[in-house]
Formats: sequence, structure tokens, C-alpha cells
Amino acid sequence: MIRKKILVTGGAGFVGSHLCERLLNEGNEVYCLDNYFTGQKQNVVHLLKNPYFEMIRHDVTEPIFLETDEIYNLACPASPVHYQYNPIKTMKTSVMGAINMLGLAKRINAKILQASTSEVYGDPLVHPQPESYWGHVNPIGERACYDEGKRSAETLFVNYHQQNNVDIKIIRIFNTYGPNMNPHDGRVVSNFIVQALQNQDITVYGEGNQTRSFQYVDDLVEGMIRLMNSRDGFYGPVNVGNPNEFTILELAQKVIELTGSKSKIIYRPLPSDDPMQRQPDISLAKKELDWYPKVNLDEGLIKTIEYFKGVI
Ligand code: NAD
Ligand code: UDP
Repeated sequence: MIRKKILVTGGAGFVGSHLCERLLNEGNEVYCLDNYFTGQKQNVVHLLKNPYFEMIRHDVTEPIFLETDEIYNLACPASPVHYQYNPIKTMKTSVMGAINMLGLAKRINAKILQASTSEVYGDPLVHPQPESYWGHVNPIGERACYDEGKRSAETLFVNYHQQNNVDIKIIRIFNTYGPNMNPHDGRVVSNFIVQALQNQDITVYGEGNQTRSFQYVDDLVEGMIRLMNSRDGFYGPVNVGNPNEFTILELAQKVIELTGSKSKIIYRPLPSDDPMQRQPDISLAKKELDWYPKVNLDEGLIKTIEYFKGVI
């Protein structure tokens, strides 16, 4: 077995922590880089007993010099609450982070994967969304710092590939949930579970008829690793998400049912530019990666509820 050296930026975050663990379990040496803006040391501290795991406090908006074989670039706050807290910093993280990590990949000849997002499709007018859809993003709206930052990062990845031969992979991740989400993360699954477990009101934004397609984190990590190891010359972008689509109201009802909570559903204003519908077309992931999601919403929610019972 070859022990690869792998850098995971944003490694102390929700997705990054699962990815670090999986890569370590596969026998690799893993460098977990994070500035701890939304990530938490406790997500990865149990990995420190493995001598092949290292934590690096660093901000991707600054250059860094390391020797690795692969880079997974995940650093970026993902919850609207956190990415809108300092929109300029969010944009810098996506754009300067991409430039710094691509520059590093070029210098050390590493393969590099970008964690892009379904948000590149904005409030989509095509449903479900294939990778060929260019999207419907408001460039000056509240979500623009994230959406346009991620779109620019995709552009930079493709430009570094075409101009400098950097070996790239781009994954477009759809709404993902699971253990290690921060209880204060602000995204819908963690909010609803935390509210339900405390018998607090469940806050549905708008009328709750907007839809999302929820993917369990283990399925995502499998898709990321398959894409990193996909055939030479294929870089995507490729959608990775669970096509089972639910309204936000259905999600609230499911969480109440699975937790046995006494919570009531209350309605709050819908944030501006909140996409009305979202569902991945995963034909490309099936064809190129032989990947499809294995965990259904009930199974994944039960595991996530168990996790949150332990942290709140
Ligand atoms: P998260 O907020 O839990 O993790 C992001 C991590 O990046 C955190 O540990 C944070 O501290 C770190 N970080 C932020 N800015 C940084 C900076 N400037 N320098 C270094 N570290 C920094 O979010 P997540 O859900 O784990 O998302 C991981 C990646 O996947 C993000 O790039 C996100 O955009 C992408 N993504 C996630 C989802 C999802 O549903 N979880 C969907 C689409 C895309
Ligand atoms: N949402 C909600 N209540 C909450 C948090 C979010 O109704 O407490 C809604 C939000 O308006 C959106 C959906 O749930 O329509 C998903 O929101 P999230 O922030 O998880 O992800 P994104 O909008 O980025 O897909």
C-alpha cells in the first residue's frame, strides 16, 4: 500500500472531519488545515493519537508551503449565517484560498479537488440540475459572496488546469448533513434537530414549500474520494448529492416524528434569494464514478439525532 500525503483544508469542519478520518483509516498521512472559524478541534481531536495525523492552524487566504500528493480544498464557511457574517472574508476565502492552494498544487505537482456547491446553480430555473446548467445567481444578493466566490473558484481551477496543467477535480456538493455539524451552524437539519431535542419551536422559513435534497455525509465522502481517484482527464464538475427531494415542511415533520418531540412548527420570513427548489441530476457521478447515495433520509437523520443527543 502506498501511504499518500494528503492536505485537507477546512479539515476541522463538518465534512472535513469525516474526510480526514476516512483518509487516515485508509492508511494515508493527513494534514488537517483550519482557521477554526466554523470548525471545531473537538471534531478531529480523537484523530491526534494517530501519528500520521497533524493539525495546522492556518488561514487559506495566506500562502502555505507543504509537500503533499493530494489536496482537498474545503476551507469556506458553508452555512448562510456564517458566510454572510463577513461577506468580504467569505469571498477572499474562496478566491484567494483557491489561488493559494492551486499555486501550491502547481509548485508541488499535487492533485487538487475543489469543494464546490449546488449554490453555483443559484435559484435554479432548470430542475433537476445537471452540470451543464449555468445557473441563476444574483451577483449582488445576500448569497452572492458564497455563490460567486465558489463560481470564481471553479473558474480558477479550470484556468490553472488549462494554463498550467494542474491536475484538478471539481465536485458540486448538494445539501449534506450528519454528525459533527456545529449545533449553532444555522443550517436547516442541525437547527431542526437541536430545536426538536429541546422541545423548542421549529423555525420554518417562508411557508416551507421550498425543497432541498439531503445527502448523508458518508455518501458525500465516498463521492469525494472516488472523484479524486477518477480517471485522468476527467475533472467534472460533477454533482454529488441525494436526489430524494423534500419540502422544508416535510423535513420539519420528519424530525419531530423521529425525535418524538413536543415542538411546534412556527413560520419565519424567507431570507432573500433563498432557492425554491433543488435536486441533483447525478447521471454523471453514476457514469464516471460508479457512485450513488446509499443512506436514505430516515437512516441518516436517526444517526444525526443520536449525535446531537450527545452534544446538547
Ligand atoms: P463547515 O463550516 O463545517 O466547514 C468549513 C471549514 O473551513 C471550517 O472548519 C472552517 O473553520 C474552515 N475555514 C473557513 N474559512 C477558512 C479559512 N479562511 N482558512 C482556513 N479554514 C477556513 O462547512 P462544511 O459543511 O464542512 O463544508 C465544507 C466544504 O464543503 C465547504 O467548502 C462548503 O462550501 C462545501 N459544501 C458543503 C455543503 C454541505 O451541505 N455541507 C454543500 C455544498 C458545499
Ligand atoms: N431553513 C428553515 N429554517 C431554519 C434554517 C433554514 O426553514 O432554521 C430553510 C432555508 O430558508 C432554506 C432551507 O431551509 O430554504 C435550507 O437552508 P440551509 O441554510 O440549510 O441551506 P441552503 O439554503 O444553503 O441550501
